[in-house]
Amino acid sequence: MNIILLGPPGAGKGTQAKKLINELDAVQIATGDIFRYNIKNETELGKKAKSYIDEGKLVPDELTIDLVWDAIDKVEDGKSILLDGFPRNITQAEALDEGMKERNSKIDYVINIRVPDELLIERISGRRVCVETGSTYHIKYNPPKVEGVDDETGYPLIQRTDDTEEKVKNRIDVYNNTTSVLIDYYDKHGILITIDGTKTPDEVFKSIVDALGK
Ligand code: ADP
Ligand code: AMP
Repeated sequence: MNIILLGPPGAGKGTQAKKLINELDAVQIATGDIFRYNIKNETELGKKAKSYIDEGKLVPDELTIDLVWDAIDKVEDGKSILLDGFPRNITQAEALDEGMKERNSKIDYVINIRVPDELLIERISGRRVCVETGSTYHIKYNPPKVEGVDDETGYPLIQRTDDTEEKVKNRIDVYNNTTSVLIDYYDKHGILITIDGTKTPDEVFKSIVDALGK
């Protein structure tokens, strides 16, 4: 079962993806994580993507779409694919449809996690991530056992450079102006499931699993 997690920045896509990979025997493909890995390792892709990410803009499609196919084509046969943060505009969605068709595959469901804008700022400004693995915490809603330290790895937790209040506002605008049209796009394709993302992470997870009929 191949799934897209759709929703504004801070909706909880990454949080739910981590829970869903076990439930669905899936591989998570998170374009934001792939870009951050490339920036950290100073690859050519990382150098090209950095300025867009720093400004809270979308990285150009020609850089983004290829890296998604690289990741999809590495997924072992039989595993589900969980796309987190892709597609983010109509061009990417059409490229995804086309490429899945060429691979005799398809997207089965799009989980639209709905959270009002006013909650997003607080969620994102309180987000902390492990420097090494990118595991996500929240200083109030999902704090680590020891402040500033990842529970599993013991590495420090940091704030993403694009998680400041001003950049978050840009990113929410990009979502509202460019990405949210995908709700209608996938609704017309008959594969959209909308979930209330304002509940606790466990409650949101239960709603998703119930909606998928798992
Ligand atoms: P996204 O991947 O959609 O940008 P994340 O999963 O990283 O969002 O979540 C953003 C922040 O909000 C994180 O700090 C996370 O711990 C927190 N968070 C995620 N889901 C919830 C929730 N249901 N309730 C409260 N906080 C949440
Ligand atoms: P995320 O980790 O999903 O919050 O993404 C962080 C940043 O990476 C975004 O603000 C964009 O700059 C970039 N990005 C992630 N996914 C995409 C995508 N599908 N298309 C373009 N840019 C993306």
